[in-house]
Amino acid sequence: MPSITDNLITILTRMEAARKNAVAPAPKTQLIAVSKTHPAGAIRPVLQAGHRLFGESKVQEALAKWPALKAEYPDVELHMVGHLQSNKVREAVEIFDAIHSVDRIKLAHALKAECVRVGRNPVLFIQVNIGEEPQKSGVAPRDTLALVAQVRALGLNLQGLMCVPPAEAAPAPYFGLLKTLADEAGLPLLSMGMSDDFAVAIAFGATHIRVGTAIFGARDYSKPDAAQ
Ligand SMILES: *Cc1c(COP(=O)(O)O)cnc(C)c1O
Repeated sequence: MPSITDNLITILTRMEAARKNAVAPAPKTQLIAVSKTHPAGAIRPVLQAGHRLFGESKVQEALAKWPALKAEYPDVELHMVGHLQSNKVREAVEIFDAIHSVDRIKLAHALKAECVRVGRNPVLFIQVNIGEEPQKSGVAPRDTLALVAQVRALGLNLQGLMCVPPAEAAPAPYFGLLKTLADEAGLPLLSMGMSDDFAVAIAFGATHIRVGTAIFGARDYSKPDAAQ
């Protein structure tokens, strides 16, 4: 069985191939290794291989795992890719360097208050519910430009858009739509593409792909202390 390090190298190689094949790739595409549910023991080989950009989807889990790992690897960059509750904003601003899930103005106001208080200014992405699925978070495509304007007006460090396309559909049209929205909004960053579809996302200009399973293996949500 390939090791986690083998998987990392395979993904980086496939990323480069996808960039070469793309007609209009982003100037740079970064790999966010999404380590949610995986313990520090699974993350360490990725750090030892020199990778520094990681994603988590829960504030509590990030707080449980990352302060110790950051003490060992101070140049780690940590991105929040999951839904952010307003009551977790304080801790999120303290531990994350970027937040991909801004989806409502109320959350932006809470972020603004904490950014001022802590003196940090994480990179923000607005999450777009690109397939308009009722069970998914994110602002509707038609409301995206208005939310961009509101978040900008707060003086936050808004840089991009993020999406998770519908699971059962071909992702290309959704990535294309997110790219169009980002261009219309004048936002340079595009967080899109996961284990199964990152090559397509790169073809549509992804600047950040979020890959978990293809690096760390399947997630086991039955283990109550997966965060430890
Ligand atoms: C879990 C997660 C990922 C990683 O998904 P994989 O299919 O395991 O690569 C990417 N983005 C978000 C928002 C996630 O929650």
